[in-house]
Amino acid sequence: AKESGRNTFALYKTEMQAVSDARLEMEKALHHATESKFFKLYYQPQTNDKNQLIGAEALIRWKDEQKGFISPAVFIPVAEEIGLIVEIGQWVLNESLSQVAIWLKEGKWDPSWRMSINVSPIQFQQAGFLPMLKEQLEKHEVPASCVDLEITENMLLNDLTSSLEKMHAIKRLGVHLSIDDFGTGYSSLKYLKSLPIDRLKIDQSFVRDLLTDKSDEAIVHAVIAMAQALNINVLAEGVETFVHYDRLREIGCFFYQGYYFGHPVPPEDFIAEFVHD
Ligand code: C2E
Ligand code: CA
Ligand code: CA
Ligand code: CA
Repeated sequence: AKESGRNTFALYKTEMQAVSDARLEMEKALHHATESKFFKLYYQPQTNDKNQLIGAEALIRWKDEQKGFISPAVFIPVAEEIGLIVEIGQWVLNESLSQVAIWLKEGKWDPSWRMSINVSPIQFQQAGFLPMLKEQLEKHEVPASCVDLEITENMLLNDLTSSLEKMHAIKRLGVHLSIDDFGTGYSSLKYLKSLPIDRLKIDQSFVRDLLTDKSDEAIVHAVIAMAQALNINVLAEGVETFVHYDRLREIGCFFYQGYYFGHPVPPEDFIAEFVHD
């Protein structure tokens, strides 16, 4: 028994070692990828109830030389922990704005459309975030009204006063603000009222079970009613089928994003698949 106990411990230690080796390896690869800009942005269409395009969400893709595509759901949290997210987020902003500038010049991007860009809480909280945003808008000569920043509820809780100030400053630039993954965080109704927000994105977890789960349906209903009262738009994420779309429209949600309308795709494909003149 003593012998096997020691073996178990040894095995455990080896597994722990393997996990931390893999983690270190990912950190190293992520540093390298950030320096060498091994990233790409994919774009997913956002539509209204008339099936018209209203914008796109920029979603980062990382293709590692050995491992192939690594999901942002895996590497963004690591990048946040080791601080690389600031540099990566800056790259994302620069890349997506440069793409909008190109499409605007080519007449492929309607100026009423919005490019939705994910902003990590850590990036948002940087003192330099606002000046950086301003500089990028000027550099690319993209109208601020073409830009929508997606932030999450929980980041606001850290320091509500300074977050609010920053949000108002962003709004003064003319940039739009959305709350991402809405319903998964902790924001109260009272405090939602005080936020200068244009749009809530209902988290896909609620949309997924909309047709089968009564409480998810109730939540979606409530979010839409509340948003209407506060004069905030609602966009549903993760709309995968016609029935989901149909039900959402019935409930009063008129903006959508999801595989039913289109997957995230490289820029060339975005124009080919979703932009018709
Ligand atoms: P998110 O911001 O909630 O993005 C939506 C995610 O849902 C994307 O995953 C998208 O590909 C996926 N999706 C879209 N439609 C559907 C659908 O109909 N069904 C299902 N099941 N999924 C759908 P993705 O691209 O893997 O990104 C995962 C997360 O990584 C994002 O979640 C976001 O939190 C983060 N992320 C992605 N790009 C960036 C970025 O540029 N900056 C930052 N800070 N985070 C990013
Ligand atoms: Ca998002
Ligand atoms: Ca989301
Ligand atoms: Ca998410």
